[in-house]
Amino acid sequence: MSAAAAGRDPLESTRFEAVIGLEVHVQLLTRTKMFCRCEARFGTEANALTCPVCLGLPGSLPCINRRAVESTVRVGLAFGSEIPLLTKFDRKSYFYPDLPKGYQISQKDDPICKGGRVEFFVDGEIRVARLVRIHLEEDAGKNIHVEGRPESWVDLNRAGTPLMEVVSEPDLRTPREAGDYMRMLRQVMLYLGVSDCNMEEGSLRCDCNVSTRLRGASHLETRTEIKNLNSFLNVEKALEHEIARQIRLRETGREAEIVQETRLYDPDRGETRSMRGKEEAHDYRYFPEPDLAPLVFSPEWIDGLRATLPELPLVRLGRFQEDLGLSAYHADQLVRDKEIADYFERCVESYRQPQSVGNWVLNALREELRSRGVGIEDIGVAPERFAELVRAVDDGAVSTQKARDVLRAMADSGRPAAELIREMGVEQISDDSFLRGVVQDVIAAHPGPVEDVRRGKRNSINFLVGQVMRRTKGQANPAMAMSLIDELIGSPPAE
Ligand SMILES: [Zn+2]
Repeated sequence: MSAAAAGRDPLESTRFEAVIGLEVHVQLLTRTKMFCRCEARFGTEANALTCPVCLGLPGSLPCINRRAVESTVRVGLAFGSEIPLLTKFDRKSYFYPDLPKGYQISQKDDPICKGGRVEFFVDGEIRVARLVRIHLEEDAGKNIHVEGRPESWVDLNRAGTPLMEVVSEPDLRTPREAGDYMRMLRQVMLYLGVSDCNMEEGSLRCDCNVSTRLRGASHLETRTEIKNLNSFLNVEKALEHEIARQIRLRETGREAEIVQETRLYDPDRGETRSMRGKEEAHDYRYFPEPDLAPLVFSPEWIDGLRATLPELPLVRLGRFQEDLGLSAYHADQLVRDKEIADYFERCVESYRQPQSVGNWVLNALREELRSRGVGIEDIGVAPERFAELVRAVDDGAVSTQKARDVLRAMADSGRPAAELIREMGVEQISDDSFLRGVVQDVIAAHPGPVEDVRRGKRNSINFLVGQVMRRTKGQANPAMAMSLIDELIGSPPAE
């Protein structure tokens, strides 16, 4: 996807560059809502998870969710933000049917985190986007419109769930950078365990601010905002289309048509269209939330949270390269998913061959997870056992091909590799004198191909190896068979 996105770079051959800033909304993983004790979860009967506070009934009083504040501070610390010792909440007034109070409790002047920076990779190169702020607010409910019905419904189960907003400076220049920035945000959130970042359920959503200007210019042009994108692919595609649209207007002298407005991306038609213009821009009439006292943090409390930070993806990536000798590509693939990376490390603890363990985790294991549709914690193969399987392959006790069958059987039965290899009759034959005999028989039976190999036709050696595999029911060690064939017919060395 990324390579394709790079290929569609709308900026490639123009005099213009894009200036992109993202506002990413992250649904925090808390047991209860932001300002009440209703459960914060999905998939329940509509409006079952509500109370006077999140229904916005008069006289009800909000109470701040401690866990949500801690999570936001931890995210800020992970990105090097400043955590001011005082923070407060503000009312942001607007009317919408899924916002029963008529205002949202958010943060304006004193967000929990100020500044910070996100480092991320684009094509193996490190990029940096600075952060403006990270603040905490509550989510709205959900309007439900059913096609063909005249009425609409509202489900307030989501109303009041904690939402963290990460606002970047306009430091991103291409759709690809925006996508990779957002991927890194997701990785870090998952490492911190502050959100499940489930994009289908809308736990990670993004608004993109984008403008275009002559390459190298330093001023900012009029920007448009694309609202509510909920996948990396949609972020990249929506930006591509919007940037291309703005550049088209600039190149044809119609830049006056680029106006400050909110646009929506339609993934089916692959275009953005205007949702509301500047003239309708809201005046939110922010003022300090009178029902909530400002929060005052102590430096010791912040330090305590700092101590809970896990090793973050980029640090881990560096360690995998330096200590384990993995390539940047492999290390990057492994650290993307914290569970996979943890599993890999436990495998390496019992079998210190990071290269082959990494390969097996990224290929065979991930394939098995995909085909079963389960996460790594549900595959039923302990890391130590998986490491034994990789060791068996490296020792030549089982072929790469058969090892995949063994892995499947391990996941089915939970039994150790060695036992299954024996029982399934898939032990690889690496016994020199036995294989030598088989190879001699094959050479005697196929004088034609043998002659071809002698004359340097390397293709024919594959045929002979195939014959050895056939006679051993696929159990011969193919690399050994090949070198024995070479040795016994005295063929010229491979080029
Ligand atoms: Zn409630």
